[in-house]
Amino acid sequence: MSLPLVDIPFEVRHHCWFCGEPCNLQFDYHAPTHAGHPSLSVPACKECRDLAKIQPLTSLYECRTAVKDALMRRYVKHLAIGLNWTKEELEQADFTCKTLQSFQRSAWFMYEIAKDRINFAGWPLVLDGVPLAQTLPDTRFSFDGINFSSVFAAIEHYGKAMALDKSFLSGIVAIIGKQRFGYAIRLARLHLVSDAATKRQVIRELLQDQSTAS
Ligand SMILES: [Zn+2]
Repeated sequence: MSLPLVDIPFEVRHHCWFCGEPCNLQFDYHAPTHAGHPSLSVPACKECRDLAKIQPLTSLYECRTAVKDALMRRYVKHLAIGLNWTKEELEQADFTCKTLQSFQRSAWFMYEIAKDRINFAGWPLVLDGVPLAQTLPDTRFSFDGINFSSVFAAIEHYGKAMALDKSFLSGIVAIIGKQRFGYAIRLARLHLVSDAATKRQVIRELLQDQSTAS
């Protein structure tokens, strides 16, 4: 039995509901009874569909959060390009070796694709013109006794509350994981007055630590 396909706004036809990449596949979500929405099918690229299949969780919204987290982990190095470099620095860098020259040509493009895929918000779930009951995405994250709707909300909060560099903080969290959020905050505080080059150096070192640890 095929599942009903979600209504698709014209401007995003043939795009993945999870990440916004062009796609020609569908992901069938068989909703558990407590999902708060019926079973349905959404357009998906192969990568997101495969990730979604592994972690259906309790609703399509939760499933999407898991897909985004998985994409973020998979593309952490691409995402870090935007923290390691500015577009101009990258264009002007004088790479002599061939490997780095090809990195220079593709890096910013890879960074922008990864960023756009993580940030793509999808579109509201509507079946035959009827909006589905909004079940809140369960992306809650709690730290230091505060429950946040998501780790992004927590970064926003601490960024504002402690006047931290939010993109630096989110870069650290993306690399070391939200389980070590407290350490990420301490590190960001430590570099409260550091310049951009120092922060990029910190990110580079964290990435190196990650790759030697794994
Ligand atoms: Zn996708």
